[in-house]
Amino acid sequence: DPRLQGISNAIRVVPHFPKPGIMFQDITTLLLNHKAFKDAVDIFVDRYRHMNISVVAGVEARGFMFGPSIALAIGAKFVPLSKPGTLPDNAMMCVQNHFPSPYFGEQIGTVEKNRLLLDKSYSTVSKLPSEVISEDYVLEYGTDRLEMHVNAVLPGERALVFDDLVATGGTLSAAIRLLERAGAEVVECACVIGLPVVEEQCRLNGKPLYILVEPR
Ligand code: IMP
Repeated sequence: DPRLQGISNAIRVVPHFPKPGIMFQDITTLLLNHKAFKDAVDIFVDRYRHMNISVVAGVEARGFMFGPSIALAIGAKFVPLSKPGTLPDNAMMCVQNHFPSPYFGEQIGTVEKNRLLLDKSYSTVSKLPSEVISEDYVLEYGTDRLEMHVNAVLPGERALVFDDLVATGGTLSAAIRLLERAGAEVVECACVIGLPVVEEQCRLNGKPLYILVEPR
């Protein structure tokens, strides 16, 4: 497909981000290029429009940048899979003023020398406001978590899982587990960027993986 070269060319490589030695594949420059961005979405839409998919589940944050466009074009809904984040700005104020945090309804830590020291159990907070189910997964250093609103996906729905890039497949595997716990059938996982060897060998709980281009 001649469009793929233009898509690859539109991805910027940022050396040493977010850590020394990492060649970060930056899709924000693809979003700046209308033709490349549209080509990428069109290719996914052409692939998935006749697969009877009712839900596109996008992984935060860059899965949110493609997922909704694909979902709208194929007649599916979009479901965000969120990563728990750092505390909201007003948490510090809540603790300083000895207010209970509206996010917890209780004390979440103490302030020492102008720094917020969180009680251990409150080191992360969900960005999704209602009840969630969550899946933890292992990273190179530490763990991360994906969350999804309860009842966002219904039993028997056919799902596409979307993220910008696949490396080990750990994130996509956690996403698949979440959707399957909700009773959905994951039809395929799709990413803009990934290695062909990952596309062939990655054990995504037996689910197929579709990748547009290789890392630059
Ligand atoms: P995996 O779980 O090892 O497959 O890593 C994939 C996750 O890491 C995805 O959520 C990506 O957004 C993120 N990621 C890792 N490296 C990069 C990169 O170079 N560019 C953009 N995202 C990346």
